[in-house]
Amino acid sequence: MEFKPEIIYIEPGAENHSLTGEILRRFPNVPAVAIEDAEAVVDELKRTRADVFGAGKKRLVLSRFKGAFLRKCPGISKGMVCCNYYVVNLIKNCAYDCSYCFLQDFLENNPVLTAFVNVEDLLRELDAVFTECPERAFRVGTGELTDSLALEDAIPYADYLVPFFKERKNATLELKTKSARIENLLRHGGADNIVVSWSLNPQETIGREEKGTASLEERLEAARKCQESGFRIGVHFDPILLFPGWETAYEEVVDALFRAISPSAIEWISLGSFRFRANLKQIARERHEGNKLFIGEHVQCEDGKFRYLRPVRNRAYEILRNMMKRRSRDLSVYLCMETKEVWEKTTGKLPRSDEKLDQFFDL
Ligand code: SF4
Repeated sequence: MEFKPEIIYIEPGAENHSLTGEILRRFPNVPAVAIEDAEAVVDELKRTRADVFGAGKKRLVLSRFKGAFLRKCPGISKGMVCCNYYVVNLIKNCAYDCSYCFLQDFLENNPVLTAFVNVEDLLRELDAVFTECPERAFRVGTGELTDSLALEDAIPYADYLVPFFKERKNATLELKTKSARIENLLRHGGADNIVVSWSLNPQETIGREEKGTASLEERLEAARKCQESGFRIGVHFDPILLFPGWETAYEEVVDALFRAISPSAIEWISLGSFRFRANLKQIARERHEGNKLFIGEHVQCEDGKFRYLRPVRNRAYEILRNMMKRRSRDLSVYLCMETKEVWEKTTGKLPRSDEKLDQFFDL
């Protein structure tokens, strides 16, 4: 799906950044409106349509991020194992519309898609942090509140991030996506500390639950090209959605993955079962007719999120992990947002005893 906003709002100060000019040049026929009071505009837009959140995906706000960009991943919560991941949020909201997306709840009634254009400030901040702590290994992702590459044709952040990270030896950048928008990446060429990650699911699930995203085949072809271009590849089986026959469906995905990608090009594989806050159930039912998210029994965990029952999760992780390990014993497979008990049951150990993952995990 090609992203084309219906309107572009420009907040005070955003007009002075070169990225704003680059974005506006890409959309000469889209109305661009300078706004003085962003909050008043947002309040007004909230009153306009029934599906405020869905409509907001087409209204682009160019803004300046105020404060520190780099933050510890907020995914960690009570009872869960932390993977020492940092996030920078360059975009808030997503052009895609996955039925299970937590943003529907997290950004409920948010009527816009915001892109922060002061990317020079971000690079200055990262440079200062990485230089100050040369002995530390930073792992930084841009895909917490958006898909890292979905808007790359419209907002070319990779033009700034890739050259910057290529020069930083103590930091790894992860671009996490369900897209095939890799043209900018290929122009720059890869590096060992830049990981392009794809979230994978069986095509049937992609077609039903991941609206607007690239097909499985397109994602794997994009991953193959990135591998050829020297990027490291990450894979996220997340969210794992269970349905009758899921084992065969995921085995087919794993087969297709390793037809496209060599295990040696894969930096990490994460497994994360479907999890949701209570509010999401109602929202997903209203916004995504025919979704099959809530098949099976879910239980509320210590962090307040609902997940499949622990034995069901353990079984799914074990099956999937074994599918990967059969392809290569050397693959780093970790669990995302899981408890120590599930980690131990699935892998037989906690990440402190795995040399490669130990760089990242904090117990
Ligand atoms: S790609 Fe990610 S951020 Fe975008 S809608 Fe899907 S789950 Fe949400």
